[in-house]
Amino acid sequence: MSVEDPWKPFRDVMQNPWEYARAWKERTRGKVVGHLLPDVPEEIIHAAGALPVAIEGAGIYASHAQAHIPGYTCNHAMGALELGLRGDLAVLDGMVIPYVCDTTRNLFHIWDRCFPDMANEFLRIPKRIGHPKVESYLTAEFQRFAGVMQNLTGESAGPDRFVSTAALYRKSRARLREAYDRHRQQPSVWTADRINLLTASALRADRAEHLEWMEALPWEDHTAEDSSSRIRLYVRGKVWDPPGILEMLDSLGFIIGRDEIVTGFRSIEQHGESSLDPMETIVRSHLRRVPYPGYHIDPAQAVEGFVARVREATAAAVLLLNPKFCEAAAFDTPDLQVALEKAGIPSLVLETSARGVSLGQIRIRLEAFQEMVSGELP
Ligand code: SF4
Repeated sequence: MSVEDPWKPFRDVMQNPWEYARAWKERTRGKVVGHLLPDVPEEIIHAAGALPVAIEGAGIYASHAQAHIPGYTCNHAMGALELGLRGDLAVLDGMVIPYVCDTTRNLFHIWDRCFPDMANEFLRIPKRIGHPKVESYLTAEFQRFAGVMQNLTGESAGPDRFVSTAALYRKSRARLREAYDRHRQQPSVWTADRINLLTASALRADRAEHLEWMEALPWEDHTAEDSSSRIRLYVRGKVWDPPGILEMLDSLGFIIGRDEIVTGFRSIEQHGESSLDPMETIVRSHLRRVPYPGYHIDPAQAVEGFVARVREATAAAVLLLNPKFCEAAAFDTPDLQVALEKAGIPSLVLETSARGVSLGQIRIRLEAFQEMVSGELP
């Protein structure tokens, strides 16, 4: 495939994911299934022959949704509902909402009433991920979900289909991890903004096509760059919000050493084992992933694990991107900050929302943080 600007296909998907999904649907006659982040297993949707499309509500200004959902709802949920109410999601045949917090549980019921023509599914992800029976519970829930998806598409995801889907996703995630590595080596070409473009579009495009586009990227360019003056950052948050924050981090001289963003490194960190049954791999990958803030784990373990990951990433500073009105994200924050302070690692908390948070204010706070951290570096 000859593409003048190799980053363009990814940008096109992100500028209008619904148009991309519509064209895919016309071309393949397949079903399109939206899924609210995080942790809906895309492979199960793909193996049933449908196109999984991640729905991200952060950054969407809500006007219609406020009539259906309380005003103190996070923008992730409210923005997703807004997208549906204003007609952007008309291309969806189905929608999957995972149980990660009370907000998503309530959203599911509101969604089901607002969009009765869509095949809506509530995925009951376990909150107690350390429970001794969690693996068998999750296997049963994912098997149930696979059955629901097959009923929707009318296609049977037999063992061969599942194996080839699992192989495709393994390959795609390996390439995306390579792109992350490049960001740390050549941050002026493989900017944080571009890496996000790759990972976020992978959650919306046909995965095989996306992998083809990735092959056209400048992998052969190994020009060495001096990135020693850049500040290596560890980021915790739900999505890259507000939109434009990555460009800001790039321009202020940060490098993303590692992140826990659900559309970021967290979505690709698991290698998956080719030797296992695909369903077993999906279940184990879910349980090994960095726990989402809404899951229940021992608070001390949550804090220790977090500081250990920051250290492992050799990050010089931590950015906590907390969605406004998200109790799950806010709950651990004071303990994490105290632990980081004890460890001598500076941190900044930014509360994000499309309602009442200005990009200009965020830039000023990031500039001040950058100056503070630079002054502390040896
Ligand atoms: S976990 Fe937080 S950001 Fe995610 S849906 Fe729940 S309240 Fe919103």
